[in-house]
Amino acid sequence: MSTVLKGNEVAKALKEKMRVEVKDLREKNIIPKVGIIRMGDRPDDIAYEKGVIKSCGTVDIDSEVFQIPAESSMEELINLVKKLNNDDNIHGILIFRPLPDHIDTEIIENLIDPNKDIDCMNPINLEKVFEGEMDGFVPCTPKAVVEILKYYNIIPLEGANIAVVNRSMVVGKPLSMMLLEERSTVTICHSRTKELPKITSQSDIVVAATGRAKMFGPEYFSEDNIVIDVGINDDGNGGICGDVDYDNVADKVKAITPVPGGVGSVTTTILLNHVLISCKRMNNIK
Ligand code: NDP
Repeated sequence: MSTVLKGNEVAKALKEKMRVEVKDLREKNIIPKVGIIRMGDRPDDIAYEKGVIKSCGTVDIDSEVFQIPAESSMEELINLVKKLNNDDNIHGILIFRPLPDHIDTEIIENLIDPNKDIDCMNPINLEKVFEGEMDGFVPCTPKAVVEILKYYNIIPLEGANIAVVNRSMVVGKPLSMMLLEERSTVTICHSRTKELPKITSQSDIVVAATGRAKMFGPEYFSEDNIVIDVGINDDGNGGICGDVDYDNVADKVKAITPVPGGVGSVTTTILLNHVLISCKRMNNIK
């Protein structure tokens, strides 16, 4: 029997700890708060926004949406980011991407205060990940993967052989750096990797993040694999599925995250935890 690595369980444990900390802060009249910047009305952004606001409610973190029209100028967006950077009552800033074409995303990424950059947009925070300094804000999805592995602790990350099938700046590269910090041995794989099934099946842990629905069938795995499925794909039936062919793989590996209910369930909680960390730092609370 393989173990199902449920993201909800990890999120629940993290949230329980956070609730206690938020309560303490509120008793000191300190209210953790996230400022959400949304340009326009893209349905994806609105759905994500609703999810974040709902999650904030579960841990008693305040949220405020700063919505401006999609056609707003670069200057208007810059002024809004500066306003939130300078607002002592805002501890985390979340900006939905992709930004409209006329916006220079790089300028915005560099403008966001690194200390409030809960989604790791500012290159300063990303640089820290690559330098092995984990005191900045790390990208939420890779952090969610590490949290799941640590929570279930099936094998120690130290010394584990881990195949990460993704080399993007959002997932694969930062995740690999974070795992290196844990002293894992990381193999970064991608679309040109030769003999991928051989590499994955011989690894202790496999992180699948290709964005290709059900690409990873049983031939990629062995019974000793711990499988983390980062993929979020349209399943063609109005739902979502992962990169792993779960129905045909789950019973054949040691442990596996489901989709939905796996990595995605932890990602937003990590984001909220960053708001809390920022709030404590801004108020000099350990
Ligand atoms: P990208 O498209 O940027 O990266 C995909 C990676 O997969 C690339 O490195 C690519 O290789 C590799 N790849 C594609 N096809 C194959 C193949 N046949 N064999 C081996 N490697 C392959 O996507 P992202 O990094 O942005 O996202 C990856 C997945 O993670 C998506 O499904 C996305 O929806 C999901 N995601 C989930 C999140 C969550 O919270 N759960 C958050 C963010 C993303 P190459 O570089 O050579 O092209």
